[in-house]
Amino acid sequence: MEQENTTSRNFIEMEIDKDLAEGVYDTVHTRFPPEPNGFLHIGHAKSVILNYGLAKQYGGKFNMRFDDTNPTKERVEFVESIKQDIRWLGADWEDRLFFASDYFGQMYEAAVKLIKMGKAYVSDLSAEEMREYRGTLTEPGKDDPSRERSIEENLALFEDMKNGRFKDGEKVLRAKIDMASPNINLRDPVLYRVAHMEHHNTGNAWCIYPMYDFAHPIEDAIEGITHSICTLEFADHRPLYDWVVHTLEYPHPPRQIEFAKLYLKNVVTGKRYIKKLVEEGIVDGWDDPRLVSISGLRRRGYTPESIWKFVELCGISKANSIAEMPMLEYCIREDLKLKRPRVMAAVDPVKVVIDNYPEGQTEYLKVENNLENPALGMRTVPFCRELYIDGADFMEEPPKKYFRLFPGNEVRLMQAYFVKCVSYEKDGDGKVSVIHCTYDPASKGGNSPDGRKVKGTIHWVAAPYAAEAEVRLFENIVDEEKGVYNEDGSLNLNPHSLVKKKCFVEQTLAEAKAYESFQFVRNGFFCVDAKDSTKEHPVFNRIVSLKSSFKLPANV
Ligand code: ATP
Ligand code: MG
Repeated sequence: MEQENTTSRNFIEMEIDKDLAEGVYDTVHTRFPPEPNGFLHIGHAKSVILNYGLAKQYGGKFNMRFDDTNPTKERVEFVESIKQDIRWLGADWEDRLFFASDYFGQMYEAAVKLIKMGKAYVSDLSAEEMREYRGTLTEPGKDDPSRERSIEENLALFEDMKNGRFKDGEKVLRAKIDMASPNINLRDPVLYRVAHMEHHNTGNAWCIYPMYDFAHPIEDAIEGITHSICTLEFADHRPLYDWVVHTLEYPHPPRQIEFAKLYLKNVVTGKRYIKKLVEEGIVDGWDDPRLVSISGLRRRGYTPESIWKFVELCGISKANSIAEMPMLEYCIREDLKLKRPRVMAAVDPVKVVIDNYPEGQTEYLKVENNLENPALGMRTVPFCRELYIDGADFMEEPPKKYFRLFPGNEVRLMQAYFVKCVSYEKDGDGKVSVIHCTYDPASKGGNSPDGRKVKGTIHWVAAPYAAEAEVRLFENIVDEEKGVYNEDGSLNLNPHSLVKKKCFVEQTLAEAKAYESFQFVRNGFFCVDAKDSTKEHPVFNRIVSLKSSFKLPANV
């Protein structure tokens, strides 16, 4: 992982190099244009990182722009969350924050200009008639009966549209391009529609709204964007994008470049689908740690660095491909491995009493915070007669090859002593409640006093000094065996996607702040839950377990 990725430049960089060499542009200016109709997800992170990364790399500029031209689904709440997520990812737009809705006046003027050029007209067709007139992939479309309206009449009607004289759907403004074009996007596309709706930014100032294919190129051109990077599904719209910026004679027309969307296998990614999970209450909001929304990943304990690394490993391509969740997990594991302290936490805890250890005595052991990174220093950990261990570290009747604690067996308590299980007690429900051990004082530090071997080493926390906490263990929100969706489009939910367990942690962990993360010996990396954790009831989300079968592909 340490070695730099020295593979060749991606195709977008090559296009940009060419544009700069040929003098098509003398700078690079990109933007990230989310529609504020939901929270951002890992796919958007790819787009943010790509656009911001290119601007940085070429010493250019990066705009944050809300593409808020459709008032139906947009909310101010989403504007704030999107800004927060992008800032967290580390993409800095400085003072370059824009709203497409601030350009409504200019878009209207652009439409008037097209009408005056004889390149746009007001149509009376209903949406359904328009579909009939559009033709198919094999047949050309038919001319709109309003296509030959005079410029004067079009200007007057368009003004009437703006002034609210028409009901929703009664009139639209269409570009006059080519009803026989093999590209359906060029068959007189709709530029403006009537929609009597309040907009989160412009209120009731407008009752006509521009369509995406008209608005987006204008937004880019107004802001001086050079490379308008979007996803593959817009490739067929590029001729229309070019038509808009060239017909309107913008002095430095931007160009559109498409790349493949990021898909994660067996993971719910689309904004629409995540929204459904949120609205149906299947998850605890947009920031549920099981989601791959940016806020969910952040709450789970992912770092911006891990997401950047993931995007880098995925690469930028022109062909759709599917990334795997284990690669994202690999990235966070690698990022935290050397950065975060390794601490002890007993999950599903069981009490251990060391019968021959002096009552009331406490020793303080010095332990390394991270065995692989001495820079993280040492801490002291109390040890005494009563401890908690992981429930999974004791068995009454162990199978073969179980080397942890069981009656008669001796194990090493990590950093402390050898202990041997002498007996155990059960509670009224038949559950093991106390394990009795004896320790060997000569084995201090976990070293063998006489060369005798123990096969198991287990972790522990000193009972009087431990803080009770909750750990949350996650699995995929959908059942991977059955696939993400049923035939009817419903999700195959995994009933075990969230499991809460009791645990005891080293006392200092109760003071940890939201988003702080740790390696819990053997159990994985955990992060303080930002929503539910309190000092009195600390909650830790498992970010990822420690091991995985994931291997980096050979070519990276
Ligand atoms: P979704 O597909 O989840 O509904 P969207 O495309 O509707 O998302 P926008 O707010 O329009 O969401 O997207 C903002 C930017 O993010 C666009 O430039 C879009 O191309 C890009 N983007 C969206 N999803 C992905 C993805 N999966 N991979 C890469 N880029 C994406
Ligand atoms: Mg969209």
